[in-house]
Amino acid sequence: MSLWQCPICGYEKEARCKPRKCPQCDDKRDFGKKEGEKKK
Ligand SMILES: [Zn+2]
Repeated sequence: MSLWQCPICGYEKEARCKPRKCPQCDDKRDFGKKEGEKKK
């Protein structure tokens, strides 16, 4: 899983695929991929 972050409001979501839109600010721009420090 990857961590995605909204560039507008900073909402973070962990998902396999890039979210289509931000559920928090409703922005449809690209989520940025954020490297999570999950299990290695
Ligand atoms: Zn957002």
